[in-house]
Amino acid sequence: MTQYPSLHMIIDGEKISGGGRRTFDVVNPATGEAIGALPLAETADLDRALEVAAEGFRIWRKSTPQQRSAVLQGAARLMLERQEELATLATMEQGKPLAESRIEVLMNVGLFNFYAGEVFRLYGRELVRPTGMRSTIRHEPVGVVAAFSPWNFPLGNVGRKLGAPIAAGCSVIMKSAEETPASALGVMQCLLDAGLPKQVAQAVFGVPDEVSRHLLASPIVRKLSFTGSTVIGKHLAKLAAENMLRTTMELGGHGPVLVFDDVDVDKVLDTAVAGKYRNSGQVCVSPTRFIVQEGVFEKFRDGFAERAKAWKVGNGLEDGTQMGPMANPRRPDAMERLIGNARDKGANLDAGGERIGNQGFFYAPSVLSEIPLDADIMNEEPFGPVALINPYRDEASMIAEANRLPYGLAAFSWTNDVQRQRRLADELESGMVGINSHMIGGADSPFGGVKWSGHGAEDGPEGILACMVTKAVHEG
Ligand code: NAD
Repeated sequence: MTQYPSLHMIIDGEKISGGGRRTFDVVNPATGEAIGALPLAETADLDRALEVAAEGFRIWRKSTPQQRSAVLQGAARLMLERQEELATLATMEQGKPLAESRIEVLMNVGLFNFYAGEVFRLYGRELVRPTGMRSTIRHEPVGVVAAFSPWNFPLGNVGRKLGAPIAAGCSVIMKSAEETPASALGVMQCLLDAGLPKQVAQAVFGVPDEVSRHLLASPIVRKLSFTGSTVIGKHLAKLAAENMLRTTMELGGHGPVLVFDDVDVDKVLDTAVAGKYRNSGQVCVSPTRFIVQEGVFEKFRDGFAERAKAWKVGNGLEDGTQMGPMANPRRPDAMERLIGNARDKGANLDAGGERIGNQGFFYAPSVLSEIPLDADIMNEEPFGPVALINPYRDEASMIAEANRLPYGLAAFSWTNDVQRQRRLADELESGMVGINSHMIGGADSPFGGVKWSGHGAEDGPEGILACMVTKAVHEG
């Protein structure tokens, strides 16, 4: 049985805790009870992490692709060996069903193995001029990366934040969410145990605004990689601009799902309901606004509500749980506010709409329909287990609704008309489009958004290139 570990930071390979530092209580969302005390960085800790990371960059920028590949492959092997332990920690501190936590480990294994191959393909190019002049365009690692990852994918987000800079030859100072530190430390430990020099990856925790202001103001940091809300992303982008940092911003979404009359509704529901309630809806690419053509609207809404009522909610560590608690008390509070506001504006509540139990942060799988567009929930990312289902007459009005919001992370559509599929791929304003599928990621393809959902991509070759700069060398 995995025990929740004592918590620490990692600076220069040293486990840092105690010493009169402030602490943060890590809570199990299934019980609401504190399970660990996390030490928070003081300014001196951050300064030390910066100094060590600067040294780490001097070391790692000179590493060969073979060295980087070996570390990434080794870490992937260790994560697989430690899959059960890592997954259990993630569920203890984040709440999601164990099966989902195990998948997060596999996502990291796949990504690290993909990058382990990709490091050999970071080609430059040579331009040979008729005059005899030669120009070489090279990719070089950008420098020290400050990486801030959130609590919703406590293992997967951390793998993304560490994997790309390490593959590129950068060093990283990682501040993962204070709510899910053991998962983050577990992933970083796999890299260190696989031979990553201790100067290359530092793990700090702290008061988020203190940490980000201090790190982003330092001339040592050259890139910010952030995953989280659009509001905080905009705030951090302003801080990063002061120091002209490169940024990768993976922010909020409000996933539209277009469902056309020509589909097999039951088949779509089988996938869409699981997609909606995965991780209690706390997923940036969660399917959120179901934009359903009139001919199948009632069947779709009723089928969704019926499945939602039967969805099995419980402790993520227990067998058979389909949906765990929400990750922190802010989320059920947000559900109450958003669903209450939608109902006040006249929306129908077809399922859920209430908390479950008297301990932990459980909220029932919910369905709202015929929701006025001025309800807060139709404009603000709900980040929770609620499906929003509205009827529309035709393709043009459905596309207009899909593109109405300033977000553009993931969009989905269900139709059997091939010509329409192509039109949708062209017209949907979104970094990722799922056509007849809710699976939109993969180690080998870029994950990222447009508009207020951010810029830059993680995963794929693009994820490594986002941690590199080009240099053009011209020889006469
Ligand atoms: P939040 O917006 O305060 O925090 C989101 C994340 O950003 C957390 O991991 C937090 O530690 C971090 N953060 C906050 N302020 C920071 C700062 N100044 N510097 C560095 N990091 C900072 O609030 P929250 O309650 O944790 O989440 C609220 C909303 O955030 C959700 O409703 C959702 O819209 C969004 N969110 C998105 C993702 C994603 O995958 N894109 C993940 C988590 C949360």
